Amino acid sequence: MYIICPNQNCGYRGEALRKARGSTALGCLLTLFLLVPGILYFIFSRGYRYYCPKCGLQIASDN
Ligand SMILES: [Zn+2]
Repeated sequence: MYIICPNQNCGYRGEALRKARGSTALGCLLTLFLLVPGILYFIFSRGYRYYCPKCGLQIASDN
């Protein structure tokens, strides 16, 4: 995703840093031991957040 950083001190233009919202390992552990909370965890933690790689500001998230 191409971003222009809204931080005026940064002004980065380019590809955003994409991070998964939740930890897959934690989700698997939860599913293994407690099925329902594990599934809920996957539902609520899926998607990605986009950060500016220069200043670390969160730009956007998608679900
Ligand atoms: Zn920035």
